[in-house]
Amino acid sequence: MHMNGNEDDFILEEELDPDMVNMMEIDNRRREVEIQNIPFVQVPINLPLPPNSNICVVCKDLERTHALIPCGHKALCGNCAELLHPKRCPLCKANFSSTLRIWS
Ligand SMILES: [Zn+2]
Ligand SMILES: [Zn+2]
Repeated sequence: MHMNGNEDDFILEEELDPDMVNMMEIDNRRREVEIQNIPFVQVPINLPLPPNSNICVVCKDLERTHALIPCGHKALCGNCAELLHPKRCPLCKANFSSTLRIWS
């Protein structure tokens, strides 16, 4: 037995109680799930955007000014409404045929 030599290492390992680490991970994961479940739109959405964001979902830079027809999502800025290809709504994945400038 080499009790004295190994005692320090043993104590260090005990401080990193695996149960505690586990609990913290579960807690973090639960918080992530809660954040993801906040219902800020009625359609399924995969993009991690903050609620009530008015920023274009494509470039995440300019203000959303254009709604897509026919799905009606106001999701794009003017540039992305022009340039987005394929022409598919980033929120609901519906193809759109044209866009509509929204004046608010
Ligand atoms: Zn944009
Ligand atoms: Zn849409």
